[in-house]
Amino acid sequence: MEGTILVVNCGSSSLKVALFDPQLKKLTSGLAERLGKGDAFASLKGSSGPIELASKANHEDAFRALVSALQDQGLLDEAPVAIGHRVVHGGETFREAALINNDVLSAIRDCAGLAPLHNPVNLLGINATKALFPDTPQVAVFDTAFHQTLPEAAYLYALPLEFYWDWGVRRYGFHGTSHQFMAHEAARLLEKTPATTSIISAHLGNGCSITAIRDGRSVDTSMGLTPLEGLVMGTRSGDVDPGLVDFLATKGMSAEEVNRVLNNESGLLGLSGQTNDMRSLTELADHGHEPSQTAIDVFCFRLARYIGAMMASLKHLDALVFTGGIGENSSRVRKKVVKHLGLFGFSIDNELNNHHGGISKAHIEGADSRFRILVIPTNEELVIAREALAAARPGTAG
Ligand code: ADP
Repeated sequence: MEGTILVVNCGSSSLKVALFDPQLKKLTSGLAERLGKGDAFASLKGSSGPIELASKANHEDAFRALVSALQDQGLLDEAPVAIGHRVVHGGETFREAALINNDVLSAIRDCAGLAPLHNPVNLLGINATKALFPDTPQVAVFDTAFHQTLPEAAYLYALPLEFYWDWGVRRYGFHGTSHQFMAHEAARLLEKTPATTSIISAHLGNGCSITAIRDGRSVDTSMGLTPLEGLVMGTRSGDVDPGLVDFLATKGMSAEEVNRVLNNESGLLGLSGQTNDMRSLTELADHGHEPSQTAIDVFCFRLARYIGAMMASLKHLDALVFTGGIGENSSRVRKKVVKHLGLFGFSIDNELNNHHGGISKAHIEGADSRFRILVIPTNEELVIAREALAAARPGTAG
């Protein structure tokens, strides 16, 4: 097919691709996992079986295999017109998507100090696609870019200012493409323009973050210098007392161990002792497993508390928006969170909350709610495809 747009999302041991037609309709998506780990595998939606991949395959091998499977399906007989890459950290350099050239590559490399686990693998993805499609414009779409509108009072930590000047220690925020999509979709559903729409957007997946969006611009967000800050997440703790680090040092833990526990062994997993998966936690709680119920309670309370905090950044509020695997699917979490917010005038309609059916039935607020409450499926790949097309061929995409 002519005029396709390829979206690439590289993780440390995974590679996801999605292919869009020129009207930005998704044609298919593929996934390679356990790259570099000795038991790599890949699959493409619509293919009869798994894609053949050497067990020691790296990102470039996986990309070649996925592209050849796309070609076998007749979807990529010509090079794509644009390739959009999810890049985690754009620091203060990138306020929007950027057409990749040598300067952009070296700036992404410079930001790697802020995201040592992510930016280097994002660069791997860029190199893998460049090797195969050297003439196709490649565009970097940053998780942090949407939050570059945060005012100083929201992005500065109360630390010696030199930390910011010398090392860039500040709040950057993440999940920017998802929050940006929420701002646009909410405006569309409310029949307003994004530039006049103010929402609180809660992205609740394995990683969770919440953003206050005033008149279409991000003005506060819960993730910080790293994606560890803020809400309770699948395996991340979110906010803890910074004094914890020293306390755990007295118990013999190194900084590296503390970091591992906070990122990989905390959150819903740490509290429940069982799982980071909200669906399983709900089932466990229903069967009387108290720590799972506690995990859900802490998750919901922290989120409600943050929604309250986000109100301080807004002059008016058009809607509270839930998205991500948990936000889109867990009526129980939504109900529990909104229950904490009665004082602000939020209320939920239980029937709508239990039976909402996607965008056409996005509203779940009660008749007496002071604010709208929406459930909107996120679509980060679409945002990346749209931005890639716009940056690669200015004037062709809105
Ligand atoms: P990621 O951040 O990896 O993209 P997702 O957005 O897919 O993650 O969200 C994953 C989370 O969504 C998991 O905790 C999962 O249990 C939860 N989830 C998915 N479906 C449901 C459901 N029907 N009810 C409750 N939680 C759900």
